Amino acid sequence: MSANPVRRQAISDVIGRATTATATGGPLSEIWASDVFNLATMEECLSKHAFKEMKTTVQTGAPLDPAIADVVAAAMKDWALAKGVKFFSHIFFPMTNVTAEKHDGFIVTNPDGRAITEFTGSLLIKGEPDGSSFPNGSLRMTDAARGYTAWDPTSPAYVLRTANGATLMIPSVFLSWTGESLDKKIPLLRSSDAMDRAAQRVLKLMGETEIETLRASCGPEQEYFLVDAHFANARPDLLLTGRTLFGAPSPKGQEFDDHYFGAIPERVQVFMQDFEDKLFRLGIPAKTHHNEVAPGQFEIAPQFEAANVAADHQQMMMTLMKSTAKDHGFVCLLHEKPFAGLNGSGKHVNWSVGNATQGNLLDPGRTPHANLNFLLFCGAVIRGVHLYGPLLRAVIASVGNDHRLGANEAPPAILSLYLGDQLEAVFNDIKEGNTAESNGGGVMDLGLAQILPFTRDPGDRNRTSPFAFTGNRFEFRAVGSSQSISGPLVAMNTMLADSLDWIADKLEVEFEAGKSEAEGVAAVLKELMELHGDVIFGGDGYSSDWHEAAVEERGLRDIPTTADALPALIDDDVVALFERTGVLSPVELESRYEVYSEQYILSIGVEAKTTAELAKTVLYPAAMSYVSDLVGTISGAASVGVELETSPVKMVAEEANSLIAAVRELESALSVGEFATIEEHMQYCAGTLRELMDRVRTHADALEAEVSDEYWPLPKYREMLLIR
Ligand code: ADP
Ligand code: MG
Repeated sequence: MSANPVRRQAISDVIGRATTATATGGPLSEIWASDVFNLATMEECLSKHAFKEMKTTVQTGAPLDPAIADVVAAAMKDWALAKGVKFFSHIFFPMTNVTAEKHDGFIVTNPDGRAITEFTGSLLIKGEPDGSSFPNGSLRMTDAARGYTAWDPTSPAYVLRTANGATLMIPSVFLSWTGESLDKKIPLLRSSDAMDRAAQRVLKLMGETEIETLRASCGPEQEYFLVDAHFANARPDLLLTGRTLFGAPSPKGQEFDDHYFGAIPERVQVFMQDFEDKLFRLGIPAKTHHNEVAPGQFEIAPQFEAANVAADHQQMMMTLMKSTAKDHGFVCLLHEKPFAGLNGSGKHVNWSVGNATQGNLLDPGRTPHANLNFLLFCGAVIRGVHLYGPLLRAVIASVGNDHRLGANEAPPAILSLYLGDQLEAVFNDIKEGNTAESNGGGVMDLGLAQILPFTRDPGDRNRTSPFAFTGNRFEFRAVGSSQSISGPLVAMNTMLADSLDWIADKLEVEFEAGKSEAEGVAAVLKELMELHGDVIFGGDGYSSDWHEAAVEERGLRDIPTTADALPALIDDDVVALFERTGVLSPVELESRYEVYSEQYILSIGVEAKTTAELAKTVLYPAAMSYVSDLVGTISGAASVGVELETSPVKMVAEEANSLIAAVRELESALSVGEFATIEEHMQYCAGTLRELMDRVRTHADALEAEVSDEYWPLPKYREMLLIR
């Protein structure tokens, strides 16, 4: 019998693997932010005046005087050179969830052959990476393909150490020569400004006098899988698509819940420590890590930070996670659903808004007045999620997330909002007008008595909700594990800006009519709840009853796939929302829609081609050699009563025939090339292609369960998930 060498070799390599690298480490006090050019570093190496200007820019987003940029550039260069750095790079975030960089040397040579180093304010401020190959959704014709990067001084520069040496990294935006955003950072910064403007309006109306710039804060929880590199390298599907396109379920999966929060395997601990030490050097505050539900699945969460910095840090985390995993002999899978039948990976985006003067506005305060502000901001979120549910669904749409959302796995593809019993009761009372009257007569209590002793983190946290209030923030739970968090943050900030503006308009009318603060707030929130209260749902988001009730009784939309979700980006109300708030122009939005749609179509194309190829060239031949050997063996053993009829051979032969038939269908489906619209093309991918891929997989997985273990070529689920 001929065994398949690749898989066998992988197993023995993993088992015989030498112990992995250990963490480099160092005490936290020494390594913390040691590679970051942050305010603390700048205070030491800038003049008082320059430091003050930089600090204002970092804290308020105010533009920086170019003369100061020269001073900062000089200090940054000296600081970096002292660390052995020779190159610098603007780091930027194109529309495709990736992180991009282009390195330039500090070095300039003289005619006499000497080398000096140069780094001016203008080099710091602007780069020309060109980058004409990044998808831009028709925003840049190739004859005018220049793209510019521009320094974002509100996110600190840092030194990144790789096997290739150390590089000074400068967080940047990426824009076209006509000034359109080609990246994920520009809209995030703009959405933050829009939210600040609207929030200031509301707070002023509420009588606040000293109001600092409002910013969103964000703490993303990242789930991921680790698979030994020997196994991953023997799985072309994992390498090409990030997920397994085949694989029969392991007899033991996650059903015992014995992995969740269990002891972290030693080898993984070493990886985590090494990874977190790197994060600490970069000033990324890694805070918690633990095992997740599926075997081989883990989670890491940093402490929350200003949203713009959190987004940059998140991108850096994903990059470092993959490279550090490699150093430790793992492949880190950030795909939303690497293994069928096991929990997929998400990214919970925790989000709140606040400033230094009013604090976190999504935290119920200690005084009735602070609570009015809290209720208004919560109300704004309720309205936003209700009005812009399809937008929120669109920004989490991706080829990987299609396998989680609405596919029998949390959270559902219907955007609803969970407030918790206490807060939901308060808002329902406001809606019904059941607010207690105070002694003074007329002024309403607004359920403040219930909110003041608000218990954080109520024990019955609803895990089935895609968007949940968790005591002092909202948690957007439906974000995919491989996605940039910028898209979701932009949508949340922008919908909040829009709702706060609506609230401000209404409050103005109430206050002009002579209403008190509490009365005015109650009246506005009552109207808001009547219009938008239907989005609040505290029950089981997985239940089929909810799916029915949400759509039929509440008019919420169930949006199962990316093909269904993305067109919301060009809905009239969404285009108007982004234009009104100044976050994205109609042209910029359209280009995003084009880029995301293309990505979706391309990704499913790669998956479908990989499915067909592996089935045909790897799995079918394995099944056939088993069949032919088995036929020989059985005829040889006929004398002792072994029967061909009851042996697996017939079943294997039938499945193999069906496999090839399904592959042929998939191949001809792949050759269909002309589509009238991009929407039609996406639907074709989400429907026809995905169904045919599933059909091929069903036969392949049935074969895996029948074919002799000796012959099976691809590492199996049980091996990838349990051997490490
Ligand atoms: P969980 O119980 O959901 O795992 P954690 O306490 O681990 O919650 O926090 C999850 C994330 O939420 C962390 O990144 C944390 O820093 C962040 N977080 C906490 N408070 C806030 C807040 N006010 N705004 C934004 N993020 C926050
Ligand atoms: Mg959480």
